[in-house]
Amino acid sequence: MRKKLLLTPGPTPVPEDVLQAMAQPMMHHRHTEFRSILAEVKEQLKYLFQTTNDVLIFASTGTGAMEGAVSNTLSRGDKALVVIGGKFGERWAELCQTYGVQVIPLKVEWGKAVEPARVEEALKQHPDVKAVFTQATETSTGVRHPIQELAQLVASREQTLMIVDAITGIGVFDIPMDNWHLDVVVTGSQKALMLPPGLAFVSLSEKAWRCAAQSNLPKFYFDFAKERKNLAKNQGSYTSPVSLILGLRVALRKIQEEGLPRIFERTERMARATRHAIEALGLELFAPDSPSPCLTAVKVPQGVDGEKLVATIRDKHGVAIAGGQEPLKGKIFRIAHMGYIQEYDIITGLVALEATLRDLGYCSFTPGTSVQAALSVLNG
Ligand SMILES: *Cc1c(COP(=O)(O)O)cnc(C)c1O
Repeated sequence: MRKKLLLTPGPTPVPEDVLQAMAQPMMHHRHTEFRSILAEVKEQLKYLFQTTNDVLIFASTGTGAMEGAVSNTLSRGDKALVVIGGKFGERWAELCQTYGVQVIPLKVEWGKAVEPARVEEALKQHPDVKAVFTQATETSTGVRHPIQELAQLVASREQTLMIVDAITGIGVFDIPMDNWHLDVVVTGSQKALMLPPGLAFVSLSEKAWRCAAQSNLPKFYFDFAKERKNLAKNQGSYTSPVSLILGLRVALRKIQEEGLPRIFERTERMARATRHAIEALGLELFAPDSPSPCLTAVKVPQGVDGEKLVATIRDKHGVAIAGGQEPLKGKIFRIAHMGYIQEYDIITGLVALEATLRDLGYCSFTPGTSVQAALSVLNG
């Protein structure tokens, strides 16, 4: 028997009271009891997104709302500028192409953040771009993109939308949708929201709703206007994922109780502690210039098999971390610090990491080094 610790950048651990809420007996999704729950959740989501706009809820993973963001705001043949600095940037491009939207790729080296000047230049070259797509965190590389700066370039353009995949970002660091003039913001349940996978959320600005009214791309389940109309009556268009919504209410209450500013501060500190610990072990960060507070990506040291590292820490110590994807397979590992992952989970993870590194022949550190380094930040 081994106690497991989940430190992956989605899914993340789910708190006990959220699990309990989801185990309640079923109720009907059109009855008053459920509608009053949806009414509460609706307001809580506005707090989470820092917006006065509606936040729509879909029974899908985050990608469903990403797909809807494309199919609801754009039209066939529209041009979209897509920041591609990892697997999730690629996903925006693939989604756009699937719907016949013309992609202008803005390729960024994996592990680097996009430079706002390059977006500014691209917008000059292509003044008819209808949307700029990016991630808040490119989870495949651990990079945080400069959303606020990018949004400033787009805000004054009546015909261009700023569309952000904040699936890994919302509820971890400050992404004030209204203040920063973000037009479409997407998130999902299994990252910072402390829930199982299965819910996607999306909010649209006034400008985005105006574009949505012109959009001619096909949509059915992810029809935002239909969903918004139903949400006004505290219901979904189809059968609501009742149990997940019951869990969501408890998770959002927990977030409101702690307050976003304190959550942002706490996760930032955990991220700094993790990076400091990694460097104390003599390891290299994969995204040192613009690291996301959501997760830390680390280069696998020379002579160590990266895939074996992830397997060993899981099988021998019960700690789940993530490896690299596609070109980064075997080259990096990723440790999450968001949602219900807290300070001492990180410490446990570091102890297991040290043991695993030693097992695999990387021994050039004194045992406990990473823990001391992390604690110096956490307690500092
Ligand atoms: C996790 C993640 C997604 C995820 O999508 P799912 O459809 O929920 O698997 C998309 N974008 C980013 C940046 C992510 O971190």
